[in-house]
Amino acid sequence: MSDAWRNEFLIQWHLTERCNLSCRHCYQEGRTRTELPLDEIAGILRAFTATFNAWKEEYGMVFQPRLQVTGGEPLIRRDLFDLLDFASESGFTLSLLTNGALVDDSTADAIAAREIDLVQISLEGGSKTHDAVRGAGAFEKATSAARRLSERGQFVSFNMTLSRLNAGEVDSLIEAGNGTGASRISFSRLVPSGSGLELADAILMPRELKEVYEELNQRNEPAIEVVCRDPLMGLFSARDGRPASAKEEMPVGGCSAGLAAITVLPDGTAMACRRLGLVIGNLLETPFRELWVESPELWSLRSRENYTGRCGSCARWAVCRGCRAVANAVSAGAGKPDVFADDPQCWLMRAD
Ligand code: SF4
Ligand code: SF4
Repeated sequence: MSDAWRNEFLIQWHLTERCNLSCRHCYQEGRTRTELPLDEIAGILRAFTATFNAWKEEYGMVFQPRLQVTGGEPLIRRDLFDLLDFASESGFTLSLLTNGALVDDSTADAIAAREIDLVQISLEGGSKTHDAVRGAGAFEKATSAARRLSERGQFVSFNMTLSRLNAGEVDSLIEAGNGTGASRISFSRLVPSGSGLELADAILMPRELKEVYEELNQRNEPAIEVVCRDPLMGLFSARDGRPASAKEEMPVGGCSAGLAAITVLPDGTAMACRRLGLVIGNLLETPFRELWVESPELWSLRSRENYTGRCGSCARWAVCRGCRAVANAVSAGAGKPDVFADDPQCWLMRAD
């Protein structure tokens, strides 16, 4: 199999829980976790590389690892650029997720001088909405950061966490993107956990989410790419390129938890997805390959039989599975946390 065919494998690494902002929908509940030093992070990254090399040799499966550094606010870490340099030299594609507030001219120079594939800046809509969620002055800082980076040729994407607070502000986001030279805007759903719990009433009803996603699906902006990787986007088309089947017993697309991604916390704790909160071990203690192959938590996410509701019998299960994080958070809010609950925002199940 040629190297031209590569599966991307996402390693989302929360380098720190420290942050310069206190956003209303933040899913972090505390800011006390120890941070691994650079040499221990490098050791874990080497273990990822060794595993991908072994899978290529043993099974002919070629993976391109993407290291997505985030936080808290990753730019708070003084050794961030040393880490990015190490990862880049080790063959990882790099993404940097930031709130943008610390991106002054010299930081923008340092970012743009590196091979960073994507800088993603969170933006919640127009300035009023963004500042209401992220604090006064945050919009100006985020858009200035995007402008500085774009001027230096850096690929920048804005990301909006969709809820009732901002579902009507897609145009504001596009306007901000066009005004700053950003190349892409992307969307994710609000997960009502952590600080986001207080916004539980703000999650969109299935019909409302469908309307927003329909609009995104039809958007064709001349100067900016509009992207939404939510599993539910597959409902609009055969984007996943596969016919749906009620028989498949293993996931092949949709939610990446247990399939093509892993989240690492500052102390090396590994999770299927940060927003899901399902701990599978610690990469300082258990090598990545062992965790990935043997974790009962990951196998439970991969097994259709655990999905007892409509998701479990849905013809689209193997290419969707809904968002497990939203399912878990909403069922927890109702007093019965269930990772395998139906995705409460799927409009296949509910008309409201
Ligand atoms: S029922 Fe579940 S698996 Fe089927 S489309 Fe909806 S969220 Fe996806
Ligand atoms: S649980 Fe939700 S946020 Fe996490 S990988 Fe799946 S779809 Fe994405």
